Amino acid sequence: MSLPPLVEAAAGLTPQEVRRYSRHLIIPDVAMTGQKRLKNARVLAVGAGGLGSPVLMYLAAAGVGTLGVIDFDVVDESNLQRQIIHGQSDVGRPKAESARDAINEINPYVQVRLHTERLDSSNAFDIFAGYDLIVDGTDNFATRYLVNDACVLLGKPYVWGSIYRFDGQASVFWAEYGPCYRCLYPEPPPPGMVPSCAEGGVLGVLCASIGSIQATEAVKVLIGTGEPLVGRLLVYDALEMSYRDIKVRKDPECPICGKNPTITELQDYEAFCGVISDEAMHAAQGSTLTASELAEMRSRGEKFVLVDVREPAEFEIVRIPDSVLIPKGELPSRMSELPLDQPVILYCKSGVRSAESLAMLKAAGFSTAKHVQGGVTAWSLQVDRSLPVY
Ligand code: ZN
Repeated sequence: MSLPPLVEAAAGLTPQEVRRYSRHLIIPDVAMTGQKRLKNARVLAVGAGGLGSPVLMYLAAAGVGTLGVIDFDVVDESNLQRQIIHGQSDVGRPKAESARDAINEINPYVQVRLHTERLDSSNAFDIFAGYDLIVDGTDNFATRYLVNDACVLLGKPYVWGSIYRFDGQASVFWAEYGPCYRCLYPEPPPPGMVPSCAEGGVLGVLCASIGSIQATEAVKVLIGTGEPLVGRLLVYDALEMSYRDIKVRKDPECPICGKNPTITELQDYEAFCGVISDEAMHAAQGSTLTASELAEMRSRGEKFVLVDVREPAEFEIVRIPDSVLIPKGELPSRMSELPLDQPVILYCKSGVRSAESLAMLKAAGFSTAKHVQGGVTAWSLQVDRSLPVY
């Protein structure tokens, strides 16, 4: 299925632009008209991170006339392994500003618009209204549903990508011509079930593989050439080095793009997706220690068993001393290893997985179990600053 061009062509190209874009201009499927459409195009990248980096850099180089960057975060050293739009000297700077400088360096003909606020239901319509197409590179479900719903309600195409370890996915959601994100994923995963890249890791170059697919799709949709990933989910496995193409159909019962939509305005997406399950929230009430409190218990010589519920690779990076490793997934089958006569204290990286594990332990009768708020990260920041934070 080929689709009509999304953007009208600009009046013309300057001689400098002709020189710059000559390798596009001699492709029959792009040519002068396609390049003039790119010049007129306005694309918003949600997030200047792992996926946003290659997307913004290639769309800038390609001559997309207006690029918007929405990001409220600052560049952290742990971003540089994959977020190639930022460099060493950008650490500590707002990502949006760092991305703008990189774009200006790649192509001074691009107009860059920065949005340094956090995208939410109150500002999404206003921000999206200024763009033809939205490219999403965020890694949280609340933002994905928000971007999807805003795009459906405004009738804009949504170029989506997702990355985790060696696995990537990409698609183009455009309700006018195919399914939306909710047709593919009607419900967010239960809180705590799907680890983020910060918890599970991501191969740096995977961002380039998926981000370049997103940039390619954006160009195709803008100029109306080829077969976009509308109604198709591309699944990439970098370990196998394979791409699979899965058909996705529009769900007639979809609450936002189906026959009888029930969602007609933006929602509370944090509440819809949840950060932590109700069970975990309940279990953690009154059973949460700070890292400093844990250190004080140690220095008082109190007896307890400290259990790390992260994965072995994380345990190898940094751990709280004298802890045993029982990954969250193994906890149900390894509860017999835990003592009944001493309190069990759980920790993970940030306190989400440990809270979920705490709910499991409490349900199994470990009524004195507790967990550490902020996990090993809090320990590294508050108790032993010689330990690394990952
Ligand atoms: Zn839908």
